Amino acid sequence: MKQSEYLKILSLSKRTLEEYLNWGEIEIPKMPIDKRSSKEESVKTFSKKKQPESVLSPKEMLETLKRTIDSCKECSLGNSRLNAVIGVGSPTADLMFVGEGPGFDEDHKGEPFVGKAGQLLTKIIEAMGYTRENVYITNIVKCHPMIDPINPEKRSNDRPPTPLEMETCKHYLDEQIKIIKPKIIITLGASSAKCLLYSEESISKIRGVVKEYKGIKLMATYHPAALLRNPSLKKFVWDDMKRVMHYLDTGEI
Ligand code: SF4
Repeated sequence: MKQSEYLKILSLSKRTLEEYLNWGEIEIPKMPIDKRSSKEESVKTFSKKKQPESVLSPKEMLETLKRTIDSCKECSLGNSRLNAVIGVGSPTADLMFVGEGPGFDEDHKGEPFVGKAGQLLTKIIEAMGYTRENVYITNIVKCHPMIDPINPEKRSNDRPPTPLEMETCKHYLDEQIKIIKPKIIITLGASSAKCLLYSEESISKIRGVVKEYKGIKLMATYHPAALLRNPSLKKFVWDDMKRVMHYLDTGEI
């Protein structure tokens, strides 16, 4: 073979490899298949760019993600928030709670579910035999959706996130799920359930039914704020949580 032909083949191979590396994620798991058993291990991080891979723990990966979210302005909520509210709890939690977005108290404190509804959620978590520290709590959107965005100090200024805001921010939640690898996700309220399940059904119809999101079991239930308004809903939430506990204990649902 002539030298010029060798060089042509070499150049083609190089270009193909470069295109492959530029496309999506290239996953090189440290341990095969059983994610649960390798959960406490450090895991490889993936990059869409041609950068050397680094080995980070789930905690370190969440910290890196936090730095990105702290400076995010991908949607207009980033212009009015006081604090981006990323999440709280264990980076290797089996149980992940997902609400719709931070409210006044959460925006001021930088932590999800710290107001009255949050206190009720903490009671539910403790009744299940867990603590806020060994589950993970987050929201679909990480910044406070406000009725009047120029006045973050105003009370009763909360509103649900729009579908566009949720769609824009959801990739951060996906990243959190990928890092934490929970056994089950519990969505709280209609907005988060509809967003993750692409459903238009009312929360009363979709709650208590086990679905999946990205291969992970998902249980939708009522938002704690709804229980504060209507305590008769507590029974339904507790029924849902009993099913979740049974799943965590036995692997069956
Ligand atoms: S809500 Fe999400 S997408 Fe919008 S600015 Fe905040 S972190 Fe970024």
